[in-house]
Amino acid sequence: MTFDLTSEQDQLRDAVRALGRRYGHGYFVEKAKAGEHTTELWAEAGRLGYLGVNIPTEYGGGGGGITELAIVCEELAAAGCPLLLLVVSPAIAATVIARHGTEEQRKRHLPGLADGSAKIVFAITEPEAGSNFHRLGTVARCDGEDWVLNGRKCYISGVDEAGHVLVVARTEDSSTGKLKPALFIVPTDATGLTRSKLDMEIVSPENQFLLYLDDVRVPADALVGESLDAGLPALFSGLNPERITVAAMGAGTGRYAIERASEYTATRKVWGGRSIGSHQGVSHPLAHAAVQVELARLMIQKAATLYDAGRDLEAGVAGNMAKYAAGEAAALAVDTAVQALGGAGMTTEYGVATLLGAVRAGRIAPVSREMILNFVAQHVLGQEKSY
Ligand SMILES: Cc1cc2nc3c(=O)[nH]c(=O)nc-3n(C[C@H](O)[C@H](O)[C@H](O)COP(=O)(O)OP(=O)(O)OC[C@H]3O[C@@H](n4cnc5c(N)ncnc54)[C@H](O)[C@@H]3O)c2cc1C
Repeated sequence: MTFDLTSEQDQLRDAVRALGRRYGHGYFVEKAKAGEHTTELWAEAGRLGYLGVNIPTEYGGGGGGITELAIVCEELAAAGCPLLLLVVSPAIAATVIARHGTEEQRKRHLPGLADGSAKIVFAITEPEAGSNFHRLGTVARCDGEDWVLNGRKCYISGVDEAGHVLVVARTEDSSTGKLKPALFIVPTDATGLTRSKLDMEIVSPENQFLLYLDDVRVPADALVGESLDAGLPALFSGLNPERITVAAMGAGTGRYAIERASEYTATRKVWGGRSIGSHQGVSHPLAHAAVQVELARLMIQKAATLYDAGRDLEAGVAGNMAKYAAGEAAALAVDTAVQALGGAGMTTEYGVATLLGAVRAGRIAPVSREMILNFVAQHVLGQEKSY
């Protein structure tokens, strides 16, 4: 067992950290409040190869794994730039296309995802199907050579920044008559695809949307994979990368908040000559949060290592646990940091309260803490399913 990164991974961590710090949380918040995107940071990260670390080299990527992508997610977040679209585009979309797409789809989409010039977002959630994806109502119907999609999606991140959206729909299996899931790569400017922005209480340059699919016609090759049989495995293949990278983003955000607070409490004096950090009522909650973040980081490392070793089932358990632990730790760390800073904690200037919405959302999305507990109860503890 080793807890050390390879020298290449260490270099990646240092380089991404340096990039993130050059932009910093001030840049992230400024963009969010101006209703703009972190275009410059994304483009530079793409040029430097950080967005494609997990994409195979023959398609322009770095040939690494989810361990490397988790490093990128964590370090940018630790610099105050938690970029949600890293979880959607390189983690989910690139993995699904690399693992289950046709050769033509890999050639067409992966190079752009690798250098950051293209983004593909992910649409599964619907008003009636969030935690329970078995209730998906978006339907894809075969019409001659084409597919025609109808349905509604909600909370879809980054549609305004992406050229394509990976839509999860249901199709009818002609042999059984049953509906089964399939994934389609749909251009965001397709006729019949419209969107409206959701007002979210999250300070973020990345937005969520309602998507309406009204007779959206796409060609046969928009279907991910060679046949409808690719649908379910393709859908599941995106889940581990999603959970591991979102956990890494949470751990990075936790580190960022604890660092901001520790800098402040080490110098802020309220009672005579001692810093407020000398009061254990201030330092212990921060130390406790630091322990929780570090524990989550260990679980993320385990999940990423298992995933990169091809041990998908074990990675599924570890990835869910890592996501749960990091979601809780990030929320605790940010809340504790706000408290330790007192009034300054609620200002924009000190840059911690700006993360409250994001870390709160991290306990709900992309999979809620309750659904992870259900998963652990059933698959690890062997408990009966209640739903
Ligand atoms: C910031 C943000 C970004 C998002 N981005 C995307 C995106 O890009 N693409 C996308 O497809 N979706 C996205 N989502 C949607 C997200 O994945 C869902 O919000 C999430 O899966 C929960 O679904 P829901 O909101 O419908 O909650 P519901 O399913 O309605 O659940 C409501 C509450 O009930 C609890 N609950 C439900 N069933 C059970 C049960 N059996 N046992 C115990 N508790 C239960 C849940 O844990 C939750 O607390 C995003 C959401 C947010 C907040």
